[in-house]
Amino acid sequence: GLLLNGRTAIITGAGSGIGRAAALLLARNGAKIGLLDLIDKRTEEVEKAIREMGGEAEFYDVNVSDPQRMEQAIRSAAGRFGRIDIVFANAGINGTLSPIEDLSPEAWDETLSTNLKGTFLTMKYAVPHMKQAGGSVIITSSINGSRKFSGLGMSAYSASKAGQAAFAKMAALELARYKIRVNVICPGAIETSIGENTEHTKQLDKIRIPVVYPEGSQPLEHGPGRPEQVADLVLFLASDRSSHISGTEIYIDGAETLL
Ligand code: NAD
Repeated sequence: GLLLNGRTAIITGAGSGIGRAAALLLARNGAKIGLLDLIDKRTEEVEKAIREMGGEAEFYDVNVSDPQRMEQAIRSAAGRFGRIDIVFANAGINGTLSPIEDLSPEAWDETLSTNLKGTFLTMKYAVPHMKQAGGSVIITSSINGSRKFSGLGMSAYSASKAGQAAFAKMAALELARYKIRVNVICPGAIETSIGENTEHTKQLDKIRIPVVYPEGSQPLEHGPGRPEQVADLVLFLASDRSSHISGTEIYIDGAETLL
C-alpha cells in the first residue's frame, strides 16, 4: 500500500515552494491534506491538482500568526478528515533584510510572528487532535538558524529559525508520551518564490562582507536545490519509516554549509 494511506496531514504555506511540493507528494502517497496559506489563488490550484489525482484536499485561508483563525481552521480540518496524523509547519517569510540598527520593531515582529509564533500556533491547535493516535510534526527551519550566519541583514530571520529549532526540541520531549515525533528540517537555498516579497533596506550595503565563494553555491548542485528534493525528506519524516527519529535537525543543503 501507499506510505501514508489513511493519514491526514495539515501543511502551512502549502500554496507555494516547499509546502506545495510536500502537499503534492504526501497526497500522492495517500494522505488527505489540509492546505493552510494566506494566498487563495495558488493554494486553490494545489487543492485542485490533488483532487484531480484522486486525492482529498481542502484549502483553509489563514494567517499563521492569527490564533483565532488557526484554531478554527485546524478544528475544521480535523473535523473534516476525522484526525490529524501529520503536521508540516512550514509557512515562512524572509521579512525585511536590514542592518540591526535600521530594522524597525514592526519588521522584527512580522518576521517573528509569522515564522516562530506561527509554528507555535500550528502545534498548539494541532496537538489536541494528535494525542490519541500519535503522529509526526515537521518544522521548516533553515541553515540560517543554526549553521550559517552570513545571510546579509537576516538577523530577525535567523532568530526566528533558531527559535523554531529550540521550540521543536522542547516539543519533541514533551510530546513523546503521546507518540508524537517532532523534527526540524534545515534547507539551504531552495528555488522557490520566497524572495519575491523580501524587502531589502538600502542601508544593507554598510554591513556587506566579502564572500569567499560564489553566493548561493552548493557543492552537490552548483546552485539552489529544488522544492521536490525537500518534499522527499518531509515524506520520510511524515511516514513510519522514521519511527525512531524525534527531536532531531536534518540539513538538506547540498553540502552548502561545509563550504
Ligand atoms: P514560498 O514563499 O515559495 O512559500 C511560502 C508560503 O508560505 C507561501 O505560499 C506564503 O503565502 C505562505 N505564507 C507566508 N506567510 C504566511 C502567513 N503569515 N500565513 C500563512 N501562510 C503564509 O517559500 P518557501 O521557500 O517554500 O518557504 C517555505 C519555508 O522554507 C519557509 O519557512 C522558509 O523560511 C523555509 N526555507 C526556505 C529556503 C529557501 O531557500 N527557499 C531555505 C531555508 C528555509
